[in-house]
Amino acid sequence: MIAFRQAAVDPWLERAAARFGTPGFVYFTPDIAARNDRLRAAFGGRFALSFAAKSNPNPALLTWLKEGVECLDVSSIGEFRLGIEAGWHPARLSFTGPGKRDFELAEAIAGGIGELVIESVREAVAADAIARGLGRIQDVMIRIAPPRVPKGFGDQMAGRPCAFGIDLEDAADQLPRILALANLRVVGLHIYSGTQCRKAEAIAENYRIFLGIFREICASYDLNPRRLIFGSGLGIPYHDGDAPLDLEALAADILPDLDAFRAEPRFAAARLVLELGRYLVGEAGYFLTRVVSVKASRGSRIAICDGGMNNHLPASGHFGMVIHRNYAMHKVGAAGEPTEKVDLVGPLCTSIDRLASGVMLPRIEEGDLVAVHASGAYGLTASPLHFISHQPPREILFDGGDLRDVTRIL
Ligand SMILES: *Cc1c(COP(=O)(O)O)cnc(C)c1O
Repeated sequence: MIAFRQAAVDPWLERAAARFGTPGFVYFTPDIAARNDRLRAAFGGRFALSFAAKSNPNPALLTWLKEGVECLDVSSIGEFRLGIEAGWHPARLSFTGPGKRDFELAEAIAGGIGELVIESVREAVAADAIARGLGRIQDVMIRIAPPRVPKGFGDQMAGRPCAFGIDLEDAADQLPRILALANLRVVGLHIYSGTQCRKAEAIAENYRIFLGIFREICASYDLNPRRLIFGSGLGIPYHDGDAPLDLEALAADILPDLDAFRAEPRFAAARLVLELGRYLVGEAGYFLTRVVSVKASRGSRIAICDGGMNNHLPASGHFGMVIHRNYAMHKVGAAGEPTEKVDLVGPLCTSIDRLASGVMLPRIEEGDLVAVHASGAYGLTASPLHFISHQPPREILFDGGDLRDVTRIL
């Protein structure tokens, strides 16, 4: 499978490195388009999509995505500005995040944001006062934290003490206080309780939990929601041997429940939205780094690369991973089989700057290019770029049959 992909991708990775230099990230838009099509086909159009900007806020990517994805979810006023600069109409944007500050709420409301995702009573009271001051009625969704998340989610935002949203157990106390605010209009509910799950049954079970909560809350407060957000939870393979999610099996499992739900009069006008980042863009991106030096050290072969954790923290294993496992990767332009174990480290003066431990690759020499897979989401954006003050990596977009430098200037 890798070999087939490699033949298609390597000439472009080699060109990207030659034209724009390394280290860099290369994002392939045809792969994102294919993912988008597959999602829509699997769910038969029952879900609209909302792209979580935090997974990859590259401006050119956000610009490209606005043609194929309905909504953009932002988690800071910085991401809100990036969305607007990329040409998204503010009405297509939602704003999540547990620590929104007053100036962020004010700028988003004044800027015409579609919905604020309200995560606490405090935030609702602040947003209401700001909206009143601006003479506005602001549409909001309320984020609910379910008491339970099925097993199989690599990262969990509910089902235990958490910072996000309103715990379902507290809804009876807190929702009436939000619903009473005159300058907020509650148009929907939002749940994002876990992510990075590759088990279709667990995701389907989670969506059934969502549907139950949506029913319960909407019945309690007689809400006829316009939007219901499903934090998708869809995971991707990062490591050799990881099985991909069976999206079609997930769809087959959940579609009857979705259709029954949509048939209820209360939900007739509700737009169901899948909110996601990595599943759309993660596998479309590669991190490209060149080997600067090779050291034989006490029985290990160590390749020192021009980019490491400063560019790609998750690949180094320091982004919520309990045990470091090597990201899938390959030596660019090498037809041969993996023959030799090598450690890949970055250029930083710290022992934690490691891209791979004992990975099997074709023999690695000085000047070789290595491509780390599944790097289109939570790559550059999740990395400590300023640590040790190296030049930032390039960001390259493959689109319309050509490569373009789309490096975000900070
Ligand atoms: C991060 C985030 C997402 C996207 O998560 P992925 O794992 O990239 O799909 C969606 N919604 C919210 C509220 C988020 O914080």
